[in-house]
Amino acid sequence: MRYHNITKDDMLNGDGLRVVLWVAGCTHCCKECQNPITWDPDGGLPFDEAAKKEIFDQLDKDYISGITFSGGDPLHPANRLAVRGLMAEIKEKYPKKTIWMYTGDSWENIMYYPMMQYVDVVVDGEFHIEERDVTLLWKGSKNQRVIDVRKTLAPENTDPSVPVLHCRDYA
Ligand code: SF4
Repeated sequence: MRYHNITKDDMLNGDGLRVVLWVAGCTHCCKECQNPITWDPDGGLPFDEAAKKEIFDQLDKDYISGITFSGGDPLHPANRLAVRGLMAEIKEKYPKKTIWMYTGDSWENIMYYPMMQYVDVVVDGEFHIEERDVTLLWKGSKNQRVIDVRKTLAPENTDPSVPVLHCRDYA
C-alpha cells in the first residue's frame, strides 16, 4: 500500500478529532474529484513502519477519537489487504477508538468484506457533482451515505443490505 498524507487533529472526516490516512489508488474517476492526484496506486509514498508509528503516536493521545481511512480509495485492490491488517492491529491496540472509512464503492457491494468487523462507520458511494452540497456533514454529495456499520451488521438488523445511517447523517 502507498499513501499521500497523514493528517492530524482532523475535524472534517468523522466524529471528534481524528488522524486521517490518505491512501493512493482509486478507479472511480468521479467527475470533479478533489483529489485526482490520489488515483494512481503507484503514487505517493510506501506505507512503512515509520508511517504506522506516526499514526499510532496520534492514537496514543486521549483526545484523538480514532482513525479515518480515506484517499484515493482504501478498497482499491492495491490497498484492501494492508488496510484490513492495519485496522485489525488498531482495533486490538486501541479498542475504544473508532475506525471510519471513505470509499467510492457502495455498501451493498462491500458489506461482507472481512474488514467490516473492524469498521465503525463507512461513508459510501462515488462523488456526484450534480448532487454536491457543501452543507452536508462528512460527505460531498447527497447520494453518499454515512453508515453506522456496527448497527447495520448487528444480528437484530434482519436486512444488512439496508444500512442504518449514522445518527448525524441528516441529508
Ligand atoms: S471515489 Fe473519491 S478519490 Fe475516488 S474519484 Fe471519487 S471522489 Fe475521487
